Amino acid sequence: MRVMVPEPSLVILCGPAGSGKSTFAVRNFPETAVVSSDRCRAMIADDEASLRVSRDAFALFHEIIELRLRHRRLTVADSTALHPDARRALRTIARRSGAPVTAVVFDVPEATCRLWDARRERKVGTAVIRRQWEMLQDALRRIPGEGYEQTVILSEADVAKTRVEVA
Ligand code: ATP
Ligand code: MG
Repeated sequence: MRVMVPEPSLVILCGPAGSGKSTFAVRNFPETAVVSSDRCRAMIADDEASLRVSRDAFALFHEIIELRLRHRRLTVADSTALHPDARRALRTIARRSGAPVTAVVFDVPEATCRLWDARRERKVGTAVIRRQWEMLQDALRRIPGEGYEQTVILSEADVAKTRVEVA
């Protein structure tokens, strides 16, 4: 499967922990285009998992995204984006610079997220994945009505097969 994204634009990744968002981002976009909320946590607190600094980490996350879009750079928001408010904040930032928005949703089974989480170094565990996977079901219902220029729903098989082309 091929996905075309315009340059500049904002690509919002949306999916539970362990659904393969960061792996997909590394595989499909230039390194500097990817802005990761977990990386923002680490930049502030030396810990990608630090929940203590969430507020500041998201302020930084949004600031970098806004600045990149202002400079008309393709930008990938790598966070779970499972809460409607999280997606709304990103859409608002994109609208300010007139950038079109693509939502890429990782519609991966809960068991797969759990398996992929268990295989990596930074694990979030089954309880977090359960909760986030339930939020994904809500996101899948809402996203068609949220006004994205493009919405891409990736199944588990699509995650590895899909290639992004920047137009
Ligand atoms: P988080 O929200 O916690 O950052 P994530 O969605 O970014 O999670 P990744 O870190 O990309 O998830 O992936 C979790 C694990 O799954 C990684 O160890 C990665 O190697 C593995 N993985 C990712 N995509 C695939 C795939 N298509 N097939 C098999 N394993 C995969
Ligand atoms: Mg990640």
